[in-house]
Amino acid sequence: MSSTKTAWPAGVSARYLTVGGATVDITRRFTLPPDPEPYATLATCTGCPDSKETSHYRTYYPSGGFLGEATEEHEPEAAEEGVREWAQAHAEKCRAMPKPEA
Ligand SMILES: [Zn+2]
Repeated sequence: MSSTKTAWPAGVSARYLTVGGATVDITRRFTLPPDPEPYATLATCTGCPDSKETSHYRTYYPSGGFLGEATEEHEPEAAEEGVREWAQAHAEKCRAMPKPEA
């Protein structure tokens, strides 16, 4: 399962090719050791400074309720899906070119 054709940076779980020839890389953000756990998913464009980070934790506020009653849910799949959608949409419209390798 290893391809030497394109070397992906460590941690990149998905990659989208933009119309400009750059890529949008999807990585996960981890908490610090000793208990590294993914807490957010990040999409970064290599052609422009645009990026999007979505936390795996969502806070729900009851409508009309008190702030103290907010609950936090762990929803990594929903977060990843949102980031992938952003990455795909960005890849379709970003015309920035990647920086040439030095
Ligand atoms: Zn871009």
